[in-house]
Amino acid sequence: MEKKKRVINRSTILETSLITPNLRRILVDISKFEHIDLKDRGGYIKLSVLNEEGEEVLRSISVSTVDTEKKTMSLDFVHHGGLGPGAKFAREAKVGGEISFYGPGPRRDVEQSLEEFIFIGDMTAFPAIKVQLELMIENDIKSPVEVILEAKSSEDFEYFEHLTHRENFNFKFIEGNFTALELLNGFKEMALSSEKSKSLWCAGERLAINEVRTYLKDHPQISFIDKYTSSYWQCGLTQNEHSQLKKTDIS
Ligand SMILES: Cc1cc2nc3c(=O)[nH]c(=O)nc-3n(C[C@H](O)[C@H](O)[C@H](O)COP(=O)(O)OP(=O)(O)OC[C@H]3O[C@@H](n4cnc5c(N)ncnc54)[C@H](O)[C@@H]3O)c2cc1C
Repeated sequence: MEKKKRVINRSTILETSLITPNLRRILVDISKFEHIDLKDRGGYIKLSVLNEEGEEVLRSISVSTVDTEKKTMSLDFVHHGGLGPGAKFAREAKVGGEISFYGPGPRRDVEQSLEEFIFIGDMTAFPAIKVQLELMIENDIKSPVEVILEAKSSEDFEYFEHLTHRENFNFKFIEGNFTALELLNGFKEMALSSEKSKSLWCAGERLAINEVRTYLKDHPQISFIDKYTSSYWQCGLTQNEHSQLKKTDIS
């Protein structure tokens, strides 16, 4: 079968702002793109950037918001200070500048009919988790939702401020570093019901995610009907190197 050719989208940056100490939001004009709409909130684009050799490399970034009236979408980049072309692009982005990307690709929704939900993630997963929680509110899901998040600064958790009022949402904020080393400990401290049908949504730094996966493998009594564990990046590796390694991981 002939491989479908990917179409690159080129657009304009409308705004850029530091929304928490370590998250930079870039607002993108989507007026030219009829294919981008509300279904893409929480999905991800492949940002096209150039590496130091001037070659195109792609970086996955979640779609944080889509406004179909104003014809905008926002992308929230972790301001990690590393030398990666994705981080550099976000740091140097200017209003009126160009942004090129492929997609968006689909988001991974949780199975909302279950009885208990657990979300675990570091700052790279904040936009995707935020959207899943917003969708639960939109559908008035009242089942208990545990959210374990790790961020560099306590002020980064303000990202979830509009969701903390919800009675069935229980947030555990771990102030740490970008590499999310405490996520597994946060997970272990949870009292998990063995009777309820459960969903786990977990994404972040590869080694932290693999710790969670190994823990689950060693504790088969903790079972999830709906389970998503995804490695989004790896400390010390570029996304291309990380993508190669993650192919060998258990899911
Ligand atoms: C489906 C999906 C959705 C994602 N959504 C988002 C999102 O919404 N926002 C977002 O910021 N990221 C997101 N990521 C993660 C992002 O793609 C990676 O962090 C990517 O490596 C960043 O590219 P870069 O060019 O900045 O760094 P790279 O060139 O890939 O790496 C350069 C150096 O920076 C380090 N580095 C990369 N990311 C981080 C980080 N987060 N913290 C500390 N050091 C880092 C690397 O370890 C390496 O040492 C997502 C990934 C996936 C798979």
